[in-house]
Amino acid sequence: MALERDDRDAAALEAGYEKTHRAYELSGIFGAVIMACWLLLRIVQSAPVSLWWMTLAALIGILAADFTSGFVHWMFDTWGSVDTPIVGRLAIRTFRHHHVDEKAITHHDFVETNGHNFALSLLPGTVGVLWVRPDTATSFDVFFGMALLGLAVVNTWTSQIHKWAHTEERPRIVRLLQDARIILHPGHHAVHHKTPHRRNYCITLGWLNAPLRAIHFFETLERIITAVTGAIPRADDLGELAAVEVAAEPDETRDKPESSLPIGA
Ligand SMILES: [Zn+2]
Ligand SMILES: [Zn+2]
Repeated sequence: MALERDDRDAAALEAGYEKTHRAYELSGIFGAVIMACWLLLRIVQSAPVSLWWMTLAALIGILAADFTSGFVHWMFDTWGSVDTPIVGRLAIRTFRHHHVDEKAITHHDFVETNGHNFALSLLPGTVGVLWVRPDTATSFDVFFGMALLGLAVVNTWTSQIHKWAHTEERPRIVRLLQDARIILHPGHHAVHHKTPHRRNYCITLGWLNAPLRAIHFFETLERIITAVTGAIPRADDLGELAAVEVAAEPDETRDKPESSLPIGA
């Protein structure tokens, strides 16, 4: 495939990590922890629900976190550029950087790795705190609050789990969880790093990648957005000519089946 994109200057993209960005990440971590603890307290103070409902709420929260990781990843990989107001430097820059230097993430400290996802977890945490009122909460309110707590907590792990998918030296327990496909497996994620980067967007567990692909979820969304706005998916990441070429072909005809791709360590 003749992509017109030259490798971007990875150093320039990395240099876009500014002090204000770090302040935002620290605030996100601080705020998300407080909000999750507050939501947990409200749930504990409410009428209890059965273990079955708790398990179901946790499962829904986990799946919602995996879906969120895929949706956000797809959005920032596919649309906009580093020059897009607010999210350009704050978020899109990190996704562009990761495609040109996928190992850079392994050198990021805890704050740089996880700040974004903690900040994102503020949203379900805040909704949960506003939703669950211990004095009047119904069983459904508590169930919904638990699902939101599950989403908030698992979502905070997304970037750490993604980082482990790129890390050579990782704890034994992490390898076991990866091998059991409970969290994102390096081989499964390596498929995403093949140009044009349009498979396996989910990077928390990876459980939803196959079902979303089976229903052409992201392809359909891209076609709708292009039809409505005229925007070309991945125009900034691949270069406009290559992006037009990629968008014109169904994924199945362009990429090798996942089973034929090498599985990473
Ligand atoms: Zn990507
Ligand atoms: Zn990656």
